[in-house]
Amino acid sequence: MGDDFIVETKNLTKEFKGFVAVSDVNLKVRRHTIHALIGPNGAGKTTCFNLITKFLPLSRGTITLNGRDITNTAPADIARLGMVRSFQISAVFGHLTALENVRVALQRKLGTSFQFWKSDKSLAELNDRAEELLVDVGVQEYRDIPAGELSYGRKRALEIATTLALDPEMLLLDEPMAGMGTEDVARTAELIKRVSKDRTILMVEHNLSVVADLSDTITVLKLGKVLAEGPYSEISQNPEVIEAYMGH
Ligand code: ADP
Repeated sequence: MGDDFIVETKNLTKEFKGFVAVSDVNLKVRRHTIHALIGPNGAGKTTCFNLITKFLPLSRGTITLNGRDITNTAPADIARLGMVRSFQISAVFGHLTALENVRVALQRKLGTSFQFWKSDKSLAELNDRAEELLVDVGVQEYRDIPAGELSYGRKRALEIATTLALDPEMLLLDEPMAGMGTEDVARTAELIKRVSKDRTILMVEHNLSVVADLSDTITVLKLGKVLAEGPYSEISQNPEVIEAYMGH
């Protein structure tokens, strides 16, 4: 049933001047699951991500989102269709407080006129929603601190709050644990679990214990091709996967 899958790629291919970085990748991301993309360096994970979010043009293949062909859709339009890429710290404004950052994101999503925001009632509602999102990601106690002064892990949590403000159906997380200490990793893992309850998540992540803990399905890439796919219990027993990692 095509309906079970929120994103499907068919023969996703990217060539850089004749070098095939991603080769005929058929990926199906099941709705309301956490799906991880792993593989040794150079496997094509980042390129796949960039293709799916349309940061890079495809050489060949198709991508559908909710059954709709998005192969030629602009990145900005993709966000409006419910697929948002997160964990880009650059999306957080350092001089604004945590609360203000979320409020800006909410205002962007609602996109309503200045007249609307002049009403006290709508401003109060906006603040309430922003506070709720800070609670959701666990940084409510830093609401009045400039985002630039937050720790790395908390900045990333805030960034996810600004992403959630857009109310995405599908979130793409690019190495959400990169550069984090053990405590932040544990907190972020909990956050991802919570956020995934009514959303679909596709992530690239190097930390295999995190991947094992969080993912329903894992796609292993090697040299641009899908080497294996399945739950961690399966792919971790696959001799080809073991070799791909050991041989690196
Ligand atoms: P991964 O994220 O799995 O480490 P990448 O998607 O970054 O892998 O890269 C896959 C392959 O494509 C690598 O061999 C890399 O050198 C090559 N590649 C990536 N981006 C470019 C580019 N812009 N131009 C040329 N080659 C690239």
